[in-house]
Amino acid sequence: MTDDIAPPAKPKSHGRLTISASLQPRDLMAPQRVKGAWCARIVTLFPEAFPGTLGLSLTGKALDMGLWALETIDLRPFGIGKHRNVDDTPAGGGAGMVLRADVVAAALAQAQRGAPVDRARWPIVFLSPRGTPFTQARAQSWAAADGLTLLCGRFEGVDQRVIDAYGIEEVSLGDFVMTGGEIAAQAMIDATVRLIPGVLGNHASTEEESFADGLLEHPQFTRPPVWEGREIPPVLLSGNHGEIARWRRAQAEALTAERRPDLWAAWQARKR
Ligand code: SAH
Repeated sequence: MTDDIAPPAKPKSHGRLTISASLQPRDLMAPQRVKGAWCARIVTLFPEAFPGTLGLSLTGKALDMGLWALETIDLRPFGIGKHRNVDDTPAGGGAGMVLRADVVAAALAQAQRGAPVDRARWPIVFLSPRGTPFTQARAQSWAAADGLTLLCGRFEGVDQRVIDAYGIEEVSLGDFVMTGGEIAAQAMIDATVRLIPGVLGNHASTEEESFADGLLEHPQFTRPPVWEGREIPPVLLSGNHGEIARWRRAQAEALTAERRPDLWAAWQARKR
């Protein structure tokens, strides 16, 4: 009796919701979200980590305004038995624990309810150090989708069979190993959400920043004009917009060549 499987957990939503009248009990309904708003669904053992920093500043305000939505799907209630076990020891031996395929699949099935089946419109992603490195281009393609589902790993990761069965794409935050996918999910959602029209207020700023055209951004300055004997480059105070644009461009090129030979080579190749 105690070894039964938990009923599907109700996803926890952040931000504004559209509530519609329904005869169905809330728990059986697909996750709520603002109609048409971009939506991130996160499958995690630690839903309390969300919205985290995404609830602050511009992303937080946009979340409150319903410009995007965030839904967490807690992995724990899908766990097995009295203790709701979600993990087990690695087949073949070795250190640590692996998230079970059956448990993750049940949570993913819940996450996909009501989501478009077309992966271009709704990618399903496993945060993983083995994945393709996350880039600005990736953030742009995600921002153009209806939403996405992010699966946060813990311990040694997730049973490979569920990744294969769902055709889940693996994406990495960088070449380092964290204890879980939650911080990576927040970083990627932040980068994506700020590209959604209206979130930043000043949309032009996303067109000029680092990576937008393949170069790192020029240095920035603000008042006071002299700080501890250091001046703002005079050209920036000249009022000559053509000169300023040329100076910024030259700085961006020099910085990129010096710091990121990989980006610089790609940029030069594209120009040819
Ligand atoms: N044993 C795995 C690492 C597991 S780390 C390996 O060697 O590849 C535990 C979880 O943290 C991972 O399943 C993943 O979801 C998350 N994680 C750790 N580092 C990450 C990174 N660089 N990018 C994205 N997710 C990461």
